[in-house]
Amino acid sequence: MVTFNDFSLREELTRAVSEMGFETPTPIQEQVIPHLLSQPNDIIGLAQTGTGKTAAFGLPLLHNIDVAHRHVQALVLSPTRELCMQIQEEFQKYGRYMRGLQTTAVYGGVPIGGQIRELKRGAHVIVATPGRLIDLMERKVVSLEEVEYIVLDEADEMLNMGFREDIEFILKNAINREHTWLFSATMSNDVRKIAKRFMSEWKEFAVAAENTTNENIDHQYYVTNHHNRFDTLRRLLDFTPGIYGIIFTRTKNDAQEVAEKLMRMGYHVSPLHGDMDQKMRSKVMDRFKSKTLQAIVATDVAARGIDVNDITHVINYELPEDPEVYTHRSGRTARAGKSGICMSIVSPKEITNIRQIERIVKSQFHKSDIPDGAEVVRKRLFYHLEQIATAEPQKDFANVYLSTIHERFQDMDKDELIRRLIWLQLKDTIDIYSDAKDLNAGYDTDNRRSSGTVRLYVNIGEKDGISNAGKLAGFVTDATDIEGELITRITVREVSSFFNVPATAAEFIIAAMSQKKHKGRKIRIEEADQGGRGGFRSNDRGGFKGGDRGGYKGGDRGGFKDGDRDGGKKRGYHSQSTDNKPYKKRERTYTGKKRK
Ligand code: AMP
Repeated sequence: MVTFNDFSLREELTRAVSEMGFETPTPIQEQVIPHLLSQPNDIIGLAQTGTGKTAAFGLPLLHNIDVAHRHVQALVLSPTRELCMQIQEEFQKYGRYMRGLQTTAVYGGVPIGGQIRELKRGAHVIVATPGRLIDLMERKVVSLEEVEYIVLDEADEMLNMGFREDIEFILKNAINREHTWLFSATMSNDVRKIAKRFMSEWKEFAVAAENTTNENIDHQYYVTNHHNRFDTLRRLLDFTPGIYGIIFTRTKNDAQEVAEKLMRMGYHVSPLHGDMDQKMRSKVMDRFKSKTLQAIVATDVAARGIDVNDITHVINYELPEDPEVYTHRSGRTARAGKSGICMSIVSPKEITNIRQIERIVKSQFHKSDIPDGAEVVRKRLFYHLEQIATAEPQKDFANVYLSTIHERFQDMDKDELIRRLIWLQLKDTIDIYSDAKDLNAGYDTDNRRSSGTVRLYVNIGEKDGISNAGKLAGFVTDATDIEGELITRITVREVSSFFNVPATAAEFIIAAMSQKKHKGRKIRIEEADQGGRGGFRSNDRGGFKGGDRGGYKGGDRGGFKDGDRDGGKKRGYHSQSTDNKPYKKRERTYTGKKRK
């Protein structure tokens, strides 16, 4: 029988796993560990959670770390914060005898400052969710230059969650990456595409997947507090541009209400329930089939009649009362050999129901994080890029205007033109999501209040030469002498910017900056007021105003269309500052450049 001592692992690692009670390697470990120790080239491991895959890649990874070299040498990407934390904990246990080894986990949904501090102390291994990692790269806190090993854990899950572009961006930026180890429960087409593009000849290892009914359905659940259910639904919709789905509610009333609310916000949806007469229901079905509607909000009974094959997503606004009904709902997607996603919005109390449904469906559910604002914006940015890149305008479209168009834009370079096109598409989303709250249960408080921070508005932006978050942070620290670390959640707009500071420092900062001028212009700084005046005026010098959103009503079936810019965000807040104590500057924190 093979034991861990049979592998040529460092002694510190074998000692640690033996103390952890690992006696015999699991099948995936038995295959992967000796292979990676002898030739750490690219591999794909097809294995689910619970198979011991973390040690399968973790032990060879740590084995190859040179602790004396204090640089990020290995990166593990994983889909959720929960998984990041688990991997990091496991790594700490394996590496407990490797003196000086630093592994750091970074993930969204928690203040970034602590993670920045930790990273600055130096890390050999980073375990990260893609979104937060990019954030840290943009702030120049993390450099992937010396990363040799990258592990993509639960790659299929990360892709299902919409992180494809983020993953690609990260892989492209790890310029000295030599080894890529991809782990996934399934070998989906998307996984294969990533492998083909970014991995060189790889060897595949697989352990039998258990419990599969319809293995083409990815079951995901999102935990939020009951009162955030609607906001969560909306965020998931915005994070899934191009969705063609069914949203299930328990009651006819909910179906009606949820649909109406979404329609008022400009989503192309409609209710479908038994209080509607047959004629109305047929009309809705026609519009759904022709894809004029991106989703319908239906009760279980009304949805029985739906016979559509290419549903991409089923969303359970609430779990069904009867767990057996879940399979009927989820079975609406992944039909005719296609794959699909079933997302369930659950409250913390309902997690036990998920466990019950898992047994019925005979498939493991994946807990997913509700994306934060930056993730939504990035997702939609990539979506629009793709739409522009792949658009096939009608033959002769606008030919007669070409010379006019050319004349109008002849002095504008291509990058600027693209930036403006994308900006027009995204400005509403950016407005909505620039300060979106964390909807994950346990984090759902008003972030600023709970963490004692206040959001400030300043009338300085890109037009004033403040082209990115780093510059804004530098500008504020220079003007006030506060520590750069205290400035978080920076949003730079054309003519204004927003940022968060500790409530206790807000008054001091306002007082210090109001005295100053920038390029001859008086600085105006105040607490951002989300209810009306402050926080969300995107262009207060002549640009886009609330009512003018004519341009964006058209083709984007994907998501956010319209107003309600205060929706779910009227959390008016006031400085809790009573203390004018200055915050002395130690160093400038952000020097990052915006990603091109
Ligand atoms: P994973 O599939 O990596 O999430 O691992 C599932 C659980 O199995 C974790 O709690 C590991 O600590 C544990 N585990 C992994 N490998 C072994 C092993 N060879 N023997 C006993 N437990 C293990």
